[in-house]
Amino acid sequence: MDLGLHGKVALVTAASRGLGKAVALRLAQEGAAVAICARHSESLEQAADEIAASAGDVPLTIVADVSDPAAAEMLVRQTVARFGRLDILITNAGGPPPGGFLDLTEADWEAAIQLTLMSAVRLCYAAVPVMKEQGSGSILAMTSITVKQPLENLILSNSLRLGVTGMVKTLADELAPFGIRVNSICPGWTRTERVEQLLSDRAARNGRTVEEEAAQIAAAIPLGRMGRPEEFAAAAAFLVSPAASYITGVGLLVDGGMYRGVL
Ligand code: NAD
Repeated sequence: MDLGLHGKVALVTAASRGLGKAVALRLAQEGAAVAICARHSESLEQAADEIAASAGDVPLTIVADVSDPAAAEMLVRQTVARFGRLDILITNAGGPPPGGFLDLTEADWEAAIQLTLMSAVRLCYAAVPVMKEQGSGSILAMTSITVKQPLENLILSNSLRLGVTGMVKTLADELAPFGIRVNSICPGWTRTERVEQLLSDRAARNGRTVEEEAAQIAAAIPLGRMGRPEEFAAAAAFLVSPAASYITGVGLLVDGGMYRGVL
């Protein structure tokens, strides 16, 4: 199926590894021109090399911390300066730290608000005027299964991603008249470095091994395993593409069936 991504311009934040990198790679393989960012130049350039080796074109790399208030405007400006337009924005950031309510401080909440909520808000502020002027665009916020079903010891993610989801649903309404679709995508357990860290954290707290923790999680997933980043990326690429032209305002779970609610 041709997703119609050839020649589109996409900005994917937090894409030096994990889900962000997998999404950027898939978009590039589908023929999109891609800009990626992360905080550290070395891992970012390594990701760009991998993408170029697989997809042909070299992505634009921009070193940026998305929790920095100045980052969003700079990322959009540099992407448009390089490619002349912005068709697709995928907001992603590193996950907020694990912890229960009493383990975390107000400063932890403030930092997580900047990382998880305000990064997405600011990226939309920067991208929407460009897309409005073009008369088209597609925004995808990466959130988590925690918007449907809170996960143990992840109160920051459980709480703050709902703010992003509320923004997405509202923007879908506000921006539809300008030809801009806005959706979110909610990964379940997908084995990345973030998940390795969460598994180590669980293993230390529960006195078990990482693989015992991973097996317990897999047993609760109808498809019987964690997802692979490329499976998540395939769903994200579809959702931002012209192939999904009548889909806006949704939150797509990519969780192997783990969420048990009816809707
Ligand atoms: P990861 O830790 O493997 O990768 C995160 C990426 O973000 C890296 O490229 C890192 O360099 C970059 N990054 C981190 N902080 C940044 C910042 N402040 N500015 C710019 N770049 C930054 O994580 P992942 O598994 O790929 O997850 C991506 C997002 O999806 C996270 O928010 C995570 O919490 C969420 N999520 C992941 C899963 C999963 O199973 N992997 C499930 C639910 C939600």
